Amino acid sequence: MHPVLKTSLPLLLACGAAQAAPGEPPIGKHQAEIDAIVREISPQRIQGYIEKLVSFGTRHTMSDTESPTRGIGAARRWIKSELERCGAGKLDVQFDSHLHPVATRLSKPTEIVNVVATLPGTQPASKDRIYVVSGHYDSRVTDVMNFTADAPGANDDGSGTAAVIEMACVMAKHRFDATLVFMTVAAEEQGLFGSGDWAQKAKAKQLNIAGMLNNDIIGSSHDEHGKQDATQVRLFAEGVPPVRETTPELRTLITTGGENDSITRQLARHIKDTGERYVDGFKVNIIYRRDRYLRGGDHSPFLDAGYAAVRFTEPHEDFNHQHQDLRTENGKKIGDLPEYVDPAYIAQVARVNAASLASLALAPAVPQEVKVRTAALDNGTELVWKANAEPDLAGYRIVWRDTTSPLWQGAQYVGNVTTFRLDQSKDNVLFGVQAVDKDGNVSPAVYPVPAR
Ligand SMILES: [Zn+2]
Repeated sequence: MHPVLKTSLPLLLACGAAQAAPGEPPIGKHQAEIDAIVREISPQRIQGYIEKLVSFGTRHTMSDTESPTRGIGAARRWIKSELERCGAGKLDVQFDSHLHPVATRLSKPTEIVNVVATLPGTQPASKDRIYVVSGHYDSRVTDVMNFTADAPGANDDGSGTAAVIEMACVMAKHRFDATLVFMTVAAEEQGLFGSGDWAQKAKAKQLNIAGMLNNDIIGSSHDEHGKQDATQVRLFAEGVPPVRETTPELRTLITTGGENDSITRQLARHIKDTGERYVDGFKVNIIYRRDRYLRGGDHSPFLDAGYAAVRFTEPHEDFNHQHQDLRTENGKKIGDLPEYVDPAYIAQVARVNAASLASLALAPAVPQEVKVRTAALDNGTELVWKANAEPDLAGYRIVWRDTTSPLWQGAQYVGNVTTFRLDQSKDNVLFGVQAVDKDGNVSPAVYPVPAR
């Protein structure tokens, strides 16, 4: 006997904490620990990090590595020492380096060095599950090959780098079931070489990267015409990956109308839900694209390696203050200078990131082998999945939405079972299954594939 859902009226998830049934974990309730993390994120410290990063003159990937005060070498040694200082005894901080040969945007063989701070998960069943958050600490001017001119890179990507340092320092004081990796990478501007090398190595080692959050140009809420909106951030999330050969998994997704339920879109829904719950009055605007036109970012190599990966970027961009030689034109200052970034805005984006990462790393893994039974013509829906292994697992939640709706519209907690029958037709709605722990932390949803 399977429990049967009595009503198909969708619950409105956006309302936050609904009244929990007896035995149901407090899904949607604020976790005190996540509230504390969000409160601790400091605009003042973020501003200090950006000023320090700018003080190295240039952080171009081919710039000086010997000077103690100028160039990318001094910058990465400072980032590493800052993370070691604030995360003493908690964060494992390492340089991750490889020698990259000459390339279109690299005129000499160059050592590409990422600074990687790991906060190991504390639950044996979850510590191999990894969430990565990144920003790139290299910078550039108009000519991408110019490694001597001043390239302050306050927004691109001092903002993302400062946000990652702040998150690492704040979150190091807390404990999570899964592992968090705080990464500042080099050579984004030269061709994503830092993140690309790390993502390739992760794939070769078959690391379980359950989500990757890239922060690149999150420093300002203005465009060059004065248009301004400090109440939202864009979250770029790819749907169907642009691969040459379609895999059987991808074909199943497309054939069953699941093109909007890729692992990256499920991650984006989780971030929107969590970020907007914990950061009051702030909107996470999901964009159904890998990235903006003419641009790329460090989430791309992770997507190419088959991982779920998204990019945060400010709502409007001011192109006078990105990738520009420092100069004055018609009385206007051009260049990526610190006076054009807004630490209070960066802090809001960092809070969305931190709340999402904390929620993901406290929650159980996504359920595995989630299937919808299609053995017979039937107006109901039977879902099955494999049991999770976490000791603090409470059970599972089924979410659903109209096939034309971007976000979940209904949800039902179904307890600690591995099969459930609903009286809604699988033909008419999209379903997802989430794992829930005893504190009410919820995993991203998994799209059920058909099984006879
Ligand atoms: Zn950038």
